[in-house]
Amino acid sequence: MSHTVIETAGNGPLAGDGVPTAAPRIDPDQRGGLIPAGGIRDGVLYFQRCRWCHTATFRRLLCPVCGSTDMAEERSDGTGVIHHVTVVGRSAGRPRAMAIIDMREGFRIRARVSAVPLARACVGAQVRLGFGPQPQEIAFQLCD
Ligand SMILES: [Zn+2]
Repeated sequence: MSHTVIETAGNGPLAGDGVPTAAPRIDPDQRGGLIPAGGIRDGVLYFQRCRWCHTATFRRLLCPVCGSTDMAEERSDGTGVIHHVTVVGRSAGRPRAMAIIDMREGFRIRARVSAVPLARACVGAQVRLGFGPQPQEIAFQLCD
């Protein structure tokens, strides 16, 4: 009997589609100061890059590729391309676009995209970091 199934390791305990949200929040599974670095500070988006394999990630404790915990924080230039977009809140009458964005540096985040009309926030659209109505809320805006 030969088992040739190769399991891909290192994906870790990903919730849902595994794309971390850009919204500031405290997850119940991130106790005791284990909140990963990365996020918005002073209007700048920071992400992490593995010191071993140089994979860019956002708010992860472990490198998703090699499993290293040796991550360096880097500054993002705040631009990316919409990979996936969902319009939420239609029933409440205040629809908004929640997108998964492939950032230029190679990491992926989930964030709101401001667009008028909302249909302009489509897959492949270029976006840049902006801010929402709430302090610390990330809302990307379309690049013209
Ligand atoms: Zn790595």
